[in-house]
Amino acid sequence: MKQMSLRAIVMLIISGVFLAGLIVFCCFYVTDASDWALYPANTHLFNDGQISRAGKITDRNGTVLAQTVNGERIYNDSRSIRKATLHAVGDLDGFIKTGLQSQYLGALCDYNLIDGVYQLQNTGNDLQTTLDADVCATALEGLGNDAGTVGVYNYKTGEVICMVSTPTYDVEDADDVQKAKDGAYAGVYINRFLSATYTPGSTFKIITAAAGIDTFSDIYEREYVCQGGVEIDGEWVSCMGYHGTQTLTEAFAHSCNAYFSQLAVDVGQQKLDEFAQKAGFNQSFAMDGISAATSFFDISATRDIDLAWAGMGQFTNMMNPLQYITMLGGIANGGSTPNPYMVESITSPMGIPLHINLFRGSTTVFDSKICAEVTELMRNAVKNNYGTWRFPGLDVCAKSGTAEVGEDQTPHSVFVGFTTDEDLPLAFVVLVEHGGAGSSRACNIAASVLQSAREHVVF
Ligand SMILES: [Zn+2]
Repeated sequence: MKQMSLRAIVMLIISGVFLAGLIVFCCFYVTDASDWALYPANTHLFNDGQISRAGKITDRNGTVLAQTVNGERIYNDSRSIRKATLHAVGDLDGFIKTGLQSQYLGALCDYNLIDGVYQLQNTGNDLQTTLDADVCATALEGLGNDAGTVGVYNYKTGEVICMVSTPTYDVEDADDVQKAKDGAYAGVYINRFLSATYTPGSTFKIITAAAGIDTFSDIYEREYVCQGGVEIDGEWVSCMGYHGTQTLTEAFAHSCNAYFSQLAVDVGQQKLDEFAQKAGFNQSFAMDGISAATSFFDISATRDIDLAWAGMGQFTNMMNPLQYITMLGGIANGGSTPNPYMVESITSPMGIPLHINLFRGSTTVFDSKICAEVTELMRNAVKNNYGTWRFPGLDVCAKSGTAEVGEDQTPHSVFVGFTTDEDLPLAFVVLVEHGGAGSSRACNIAASVLQSAREHVVF
């Protein structure tokens, strides 16, 4: 009897160990099986470590951006479209971590927990994006050899029609691929739209203006003097012009540093901080489940002079292009916007839709009255400063920025805004690294990209 119970205990322990092992295996299976199946050594999916079985990636018009033919991954016929969509599509080696070929590899290869990567047709699933290849190519042409990014999306639906990051390279040009691997193009594997942060420069005056409108009921009668700058805390804040007495509307159109530094101080730390948070600073943003870098704003324990610089988009402020474009879309759309996305659909070879994204969500920024007033300021800036002639056939509201990035360095050129056209409701961000002072560099790119959208895109 005693011997029986000892055997039972031993059996029980062995069963327990077996059961525990099974549970551990199941946990690993659920969490890691996709990594095992999608490992580059899996010859069902990869050839020499490069994807050899994945479905098509197309733009919004069905233009093929990437597809597999006879076990080989090939891209669009046009070199400029290949380069313009590189960061959205991704590379063969998976170096661009935010690209669809990395982030949606499982879906493209039809991986699932039950069948693994087995698929009768052996073609993978097709993924349609919201991008417009021609608009992306226009953005790339505008950026030229400069580093930077252009993003454009429909703020009423969330569809991203353009997302370009430079430097880029041609995935079908072996020499160019090698140059990228050798480090010839600095930061080439980073999608700057999602993963970079930049000094916002004067584009931050959009937020300071919103905070001012909320703080002072007489904001439009309120005036500050610009004497080519202003002294705060014993330090001189210089302005690009000598604007004299300025109202908010005038100062916004002139991008007057003297006005906005004084306004920022009077608005105060708490309110400016509140509006930066509302605009999306220090918040997490993601697109199609791909996390973006977080915009940064911190004016705790700062002096008036720091507050002044922060209100003009300098100090330690850093903006991420995805966060910024979402803020602009929110303003354009009267306070909130559907979140930007680019994965429109994923479809099996039998035509069955596999991607039902009910959780894209929306983002709320300022209240609708403030959004309407900021829109008016941005529209006035185009009329009286940048020029409506640059944007024929479109009603554009915008703000430029010159982001100082350190002494002895050419500043970044930034131009952000949106159209108010009912049939083409687009928000945009253009940033050219070391593109120079003033609005012209980024503004010209925005103008050509918006015209390309007007010609090519139908919603
Ligand atoms: Zn001024």
